[in-house]
Amino acid sequence: MSLSEALRDLGLEALPENLTSVAAAKDHEPKLLGVVATAYEAMRRAALGEGVHLAAASGFRSVTRQVQIWERKFRDAVAYMGDRQSSLCKVLEYSAPPGWSRHHWGSDVDLVAGELIDDARLEADDWEECGPCHSAGVWLSAHAHEYGFCRPYDEFRGGFLVEPWHWSFVPTSAPLLSRIQRLDWKFVFTKESFEGADLLADQVNRLFHDFVLAINPRLR
Ligand SMILES: [Zn+2]
Repeated sequence: MSLSEALRDLGLEALPENLTSVAAAKDHEPKLLGVVATAYEAMRRAALGEGVHLAAASGFRSVTRQVQIWERKFRDAVAYMGDRQSSLCKVLEYSAPPGWSRHHWGSDVDLVAGELIDDARLEADDWEECGPCHSAGVWLSAHAHEYGFCRPYDEFRGGFLVEPWHWSFVPTSAPLLSRIQRLDWKFVFTKESFEGADLLADQVNRLFHDFVLAINPRLR
């Protein structure tokens, strides 16, 4: 059974027929599960009514796509740093290995402020005071929970660095976090052939805890 099949059996990779396009930043075509897209659209309209322009830079991402992204970053890191273990740690700062990305679920979305619509990028500095996404961040912090969204990576807990742009639809994603724990990830990564899968398999318990489970407690 492929990684994609194993995930789909548990609802951990959204099926194309269940995905809907949402209002996007330029050159992006994000899709979300229907129920998530509806909630996001309600939130986006409410924000717009208060002068805050939100746009989605990334939504659903397939396992196949995540393998491409992951391998490119991993190879670049190895070319630069030489050491595979250090490279793994570097890539893990912001990128989930295939299978562990919450973007597989169709419940999570990366947002940018409208001002960045011509140059969508995801940088923590943009969300700080004086940054172009600051007012969007303030609005989201005050109101996103009213629409069911919260930030998984709101503070550093030993795994991914803080991601001010990443929002998750709690009613959909919270149950999926318990399902992802049903898979034997050591077995899964041992069978996988993508770059770095062997290193992930060797350290799977610690990494699963830090990068999958150590998130905002409201999402557990
Ligand atoms: Zn994200």
